[in-house]
Amino acid sequence: MTAWTLAYEGFDPGEERLREALCTLGNGYFATRGAAPEAAADDVHYPGTYVAGCYNRLVSRVSGREVENEDLVNVPNWLPLTFRPEGGDWLDLRRREVLAYRQELDLRHGVLTRSLRLRDPQGRVTRVTQRRFVHMDYRHVAGLETTIAPENWFGRLEVRSALDGRVTNAGVARYRLLDGRHLAPLETGEAGDDTIWLLVETRTSHVRIAQAARTRLLRDGEAVTVERRSHQEPGFVAHDLAVEVREGEPLTVEKVVTLFTSAERAVSEPGDAARKWIARIGGFEELLERHTAAWGRLWRRCRIDIDADDHEIARTVNLHVFHLLQTVSRHTIDLDVGVPARGLHGEAYRGHIFWDELFVFPFLNLRFPEATRALLRYRYRRLPEARWAARQAGYQGAMYPWQSGSDGREETQRLHLNPRSGRWLPDNSHLQRHVNVAVAYNVWQYYQVTGDLEFLGEHGAEMLLEIARFWASIATYNRDLDRYEILGVMGPDEYHDGYPDRDEPGLDNNAYTNVMAAWVLCRALETLDLLSEHRRIELEDRLCLRPEETDRWEEVSRKLRVCFHDGDIISQFEGYDRLQELDWEDLRRRHGEIRRLDRILEAEGDSPNRYKASKQADVLMLFYLLSADELRALLERLGYRLEPAAIPRTVDYYLRRTSHGSTLSGVVHAWVLARSDRPRSWRFFAEALASDVHDVQGGTTAEGIHLGAMAGTVDLAQRCYTGLETREDVLWLSPSLPEGLGGLDFDIRYRGHWGVHLRVTPEALQVLVASSDATPVKVGFKGEVVEIEPGGMREFPCSGAAR
Ligand code: BGC
Repeated sequence: MTAWTLAYEGFDPGEERLREALCTLGNGYFATRGAAPEAAADDVHYPGTYVAGCYNRLVSRVSGREVENEDLVNVPNWLPLTFRPEGGDWLDLRRREVLAYRQELDLRHGVLTRSLRLRDPQGRVTRVTQRRFVHMDYRHVAGLETTIAPENWFGRLEVRSALDGRVTNAGVARYRLLDGRHLAPLETGEAGDDTIWLLVETRTSHVRIAQAARTRLLRDGEAVTVERRSHQEPGFVAHDLAVEVREGEPLTVEKVVTLFTSAERAVSEPGDAARKWIARIGGFEELLERHTAAWGRLWRRCRIDIDADDHEIARTVNLHVFHLLQTVSRHTIDLDVGVPARGLHGEAYRGHIFWDELFVFPFLNLRFPEATRALLRYRYRRLPEARWAARQAGYQGAMYPWQSGSDGREETQRLHLNPRSGRWLPDNSHLQRHVNVAVAYNVWQYYQVTGDLEFLGEHGAEMLLEIARFWASIATYNRDLDRYEILGVMGPDEYHDGYPDRDEPGLDNNAYTNVMAAWVLCRALETLDLLSEHRRIELEDRLCLRPEETDRWEEVSRKLRVCFHDGDIISQFEGYDRLQELDWEDLRRRHGEIRRLDRILEAEGDSPNRYKASKQADVLMLFYLLSADELRALLERLGYRLEPAAIPRTVDYYLRRTSHGSTLSGVVHAWVLARSDRPRSWRFFAEALASDVHDVQGGTTAEGIHLGAMAGTVDLAQRCYTGLETREDVLWLSPSLPEGLGGLDFDIRYRGHWGVHLRVTPEALQVLVASSDATPVKVGFKGEVVEIEPGGMREFPCSGAAR
């Protein structure tokens, strides 16, 4: 095992879908699961290709109700490539003796290789090697090369290369009752000698998607003349090629593909673009060279070298960065997309965008701030929809949806299936208004890291101010307490969506929501001071923002209510203390794995709403997003005291009551324990790292990776264990490496500085500033700020005590 390969030996039908998700190749514009090219969707395989931002909306009838869902569309499968000796069966591993099988994902170069040796029922042994890429430089291009080497036979070989638009969205078993037929076939055809093409359209959003495939046969690098027949039916087109093969003489099949949609700039018509470009681009090798060069540049900017006891840690961190860069890349800058919680790797959560961006942006801010800016503009474009949603719900300002898709309306499903009980249940998770904290926090963080006042003035401030408005308007005044309250919402912990004795869903005074709403109000006021007077006056005028309103923000930010119990424990929400303790031991004994406690309890006719039991960090999110000093100051402003000893007590209290039903939970817990209990923090880090590679949630990774947890683990290495903070113009660092982590080495981009290199060991922190940087970098360490000149280096002793 190296730090740059993810390898699988042997064909394992039970593992195939997981491997497909983990071996997905993409470039931020589109991604294709690592499915076998000869396979169609069945109980073993699930080929899927997804184009960022390509959604379609369908209505289905379940449980006697009509439900509307918008899905990230599984677009035509460009992979299909299969072969057979004339008269034999098309390739199907289940009907061959598999003599050898290895699949290897090369993270450094973005290439997936599959090597097989097979014996068919007639005793013919064939060796096959396949390599593929989804081009990181040319975003519309992908390639698949198959080398077929007969070992003990000769004769006629038939090869089929196809584009399959008959696919549906069927990758998630829980959604099978919902309509997944998003594509309507339009046209198929041939172009030139060696090209087939296909055009389909999404059924309601009317996005046309075109693919063209050029298939060539080569022997020793020379083109082989072949017989070609085309096969066309609605939504499907194939080229059948026939050629003579001899033992020991490998034949190479080169399939190069282009993919375009009508939802794109600089495209006249997608079919025309796909055909035009397939005729212009070079062969597999030439494309591959440019593709790997693009990955080389990416890794130079983005690699995080980790010196850890366990080699798998460095490999998994690389894998996480790899999938992040395949979901968000420089191509994102030109698109109108957010970050789907499950990447472009599968259909879980329908490709929707949640608060998970909160966990993804910190990595991008320090490397691809242009990408973060583009992702924030996805939210900005949906500000009118968020304003409308606020108005409809009786509030002011902008209320962003819990789940967002094409146009920014609320996409959260109203019913969800508990696969354990088979029951469809009301889904109240849209009450997670705290997503509005995430949007505001992301705007603010982006500004802190980049100092991009222009973006703040043009787009960021408007979102911040409108979100602040929303929080001030949803807060109601309780005269008896002289406090403002936020009622009827949900916090991040999705196990609690209401009180056991109340019919209406929603909880009152969720601590995370209230404290962070106060934070948003403070930042909105601060933003007004940051803007140039011209821009501030313009914005105030445009938003009709009067001094009385900002006075109210000031007041609400000082009087939001936070509940406490058992002395100084921050209550997750009002009334939390009245809930029952859960018998964790009993549940573990009866069920073993209890991450999805909600499903277990519901299947038993019970509900997590009755218990002090969380799916994931909720109160502890406060310690994740805010430093202890910031949180203390914020609570003091609200009139509450947070003694230093209350923090570890609160962390411990909730840790003992959390089932980690979300992969985000491990990330947050690793973070909040990083300073107080390093061994435990490291264990959570390792567990969060394992989430997808070891599919700890028992099958969910096969439906798409968990991008928040992937990016969150990388960010633990990047910001948490180095203590990296960007405040005003200073880069603050305060490393504290857990045992097991010998060192960290990486570059960041920060406020216009391109090359700030950080090297951390238990003994020392080194900061190097590239000589090409124009100005010195201000670095803060243990309360002191020093300036490092371009080309300079400073070393700060960390003392072995850091371990
Ligand atoms: C988590 C949410 C998260 C969503 C998408 C859920 O399981 O509870 O916090 O936003 O998954 O990743």
